[in-house]
Amino acid sequence: MKQILFSLLFISCITLCKPAHRVQIMHEKCDIGQLTVICGPMFAGKSEELIRVIRRAQYAQKIVLVVKHEFDDRTSATDVASHNGNTITAHPVTDAEDIIRLAHESDCDILCIDEVQFFSDNIVAVICKLLDEGIEIIVSGLDQDFRAMPFGQMPTLLALADEVIKLTAICTACGQQAQKSQRLINGEPAKFDDPILLVGAQESYQARCRNCFYIDKKGY
Ligand SMILES: [Zn+2]
Repeated sequence: MKQILFSLLFISCITLCKPAHRVQIMHEKCDIGQLTVICGPMFAGKSEELIRVIRRAQYAQKIVLVVKHEFDDRTSATDVASHNGNTITAHPVTDAEDIIRLAHESDCDILCIDEVQFFSDNIVAVICKLLDEGIEIIVSGLDQDFRAMPFGQMPTLLALADEVIKLTAICTACGQQAQKSQRLINGEPAKFDDPILLVGAQESYQARCRNCFYIDKKGY
């Protein structure tokens, strides 16, 4: 009797764990979008990493939509550009809602957003909607502003991310790993109460470690 019961239990387990069931679950999971956030200070190679990921996806024959905020025109109005000279063409966008239209028009598999911290608060809702539609999304941006405070919607995006790639730069002052972006105006550290957004030339900012970063007052 014990042997019969054991056999029935064993057959039930085999039925529940049959490969077709597992494949179906894996297929369902593949239809859910994934969010990757690449973050760090200036000169950490965030755009370079984004360009690398985009090129890999293009080699894999994926449809990749690349967007950037129109406000970020430091090197080109239509390119994502890294500090070492690599570029990739991007759609300049002002309103985050326009990204939904571009994603639908392109029928993209992967959406990449460079300098995502420049977008207004509705970027979070836009990203979540497109993730629900099964689009893989990779964003890059500054996690801290020049005051070393969390930048725009980056804290929310970091919390929602499935994967976070946090990069560091090299401190201009001491050569250690740098997590901060030091803003300099006429060679002097900017004041805490200065405007947050100043997209400017490279000489306006330096990568700094926690010890070498300076701001006239703390925000926390
Ligand atoms: Zn340092």
